[in-house]
Amino acid sequence: MVRPVAGFDRLGDENAFAVLARATELAAQGRDVINLGIGQPDFRTPEHIVEAAIKALRDGKHGYTEATGIAPLREAVAAHVATRTGVTIPADRVMIVPGGKVTMFAAIMMFGEPGAEILYPDPGFPIYRSMIEFTGARAVPVPIREENDFAFSADEVLSLITPDTRLVILNSPANPTAGVAPKSEINRLVAGLLDHPSVAVLSDEIYDRMVYDDAEHISLLSYPEIRNRLILLNGWSKTYAMTGWRLGWSIWPTTLTERFRKFAVNGWSCVNAPAQYAGIAALEGPQTAVDDMVAAFDKRRKVTVAALNKLPGVSCVTPKGAFYTFPNITETGWGAKALASSLLERAGVALIGGPDFGELGEGYLRVSYANSEENIAAALDRVGEFLTEHRAAAR
Ligand code: PLP
Repeated sequence: MVRPVAGFDRLGDENAFAVLARATELAAQGRDVINLGIGQPDFRTPEHIVEAAIKALRDGKHGYTEATGIAPLREAVAAHVATRTGVTIPADRVMIVPGGKVTMFAAIMMFGEPGAEILYPDPGFPIYRSMIEFTGARAVPVPIREENDFAFSADEVLSLITPDTRLVILNSPANPTAGVAPKSEINRLVAGLLDHPSVAVLSDEIYDRMVYDDAEHISLLSYPEIRNRLILLNGWSKTYAMTGWRLGWSIWPTTLTERFRKFAVNGWSCVNAPAQYAGIAALEGPQTAVDDMVAAFDKRRKVTVAALNKLPGVSCVTPKGAFYTFPNITETGWGAKALASSLLERAGVALIGGPDFGELGEGYLRVSYANSEENIAAALDRVGEFLTEHRAAAR
């Protein structure tokens, strides 16, 4: 019998992919399924970005590149970051990676080991906990609460830090709750972190361009006092509707860049070359497609929240970021996973049960509004009919 290491038995999963597969299977059987489960923009990658990749291939740019990305792309990221945050970072601290996920993979591998503790948001992106447990470190959940508009509480994060804490993972705007951390909370957290100089920070800012109403995205990069231990995760997937391109970027402290480069060489050699040229076009080209997409999301967000709040037993705070809503369904009498799966199988609506994002996700669903207004309205009508018919189903 072959014996893989125990970490592989501890790996978790991302149920959104299973829901997508099941929704596709049902649709192939002729069922009418509306997908509000998906975590990707329903827009096409802007044409000038696609053209840049095609041109790169035509120009013969199809070989290996530097492991950490081609110089013009790293420089384009540094310039983009300077414009957005006012912070100048040397391009050699920018790492180009195959998707946003790879930065969390690398960061958690770098700080996780048996005996270490890593703090992560719950509910939160499921891969954080999965990867922490893979390394043998202890995954310490930071509760993300509806009463705080799904922003983390700095005091709570700080109270969970122990001498064994090696890494704190933050995510704002957040998946799945769409919460956006206010500046005051980030200020308090950063001030508190000064008492814990050996704790690294992974700030997942992949939804940074998607903020609404009076919300403001504050990058952790704007705090010089923690810059020497901050890993910033971002990428093209959400902002430029490029999830399938597998293209992300991160900023690492100088002390970690060489370790990261070696990890990249060992793991994936480099990122797909034409995708890197597309990445330059995305950052340096017109941003109108991004602005239009965010404006469309904003409209749908309002439609989605209004419709959710009319459903029996459902209440939904107005989210300020990303393209998700996280309605509270406790009053329906349903458990979240049972409701999500019944809605898919019996009502033809794909969405994700809150527990797929952590134990504190019970009582919630993640509803993505990366779909047309008509589809959102039709899907939530179906949910309403289903809930009216099956109101008091047992948990
Ligand atoms: N971080 C968060 C919070 C996400 O929601 C996602 C994708 O859903 C990622 C990272 C990963 O992005 P990518 O598809 O670029 O790997």
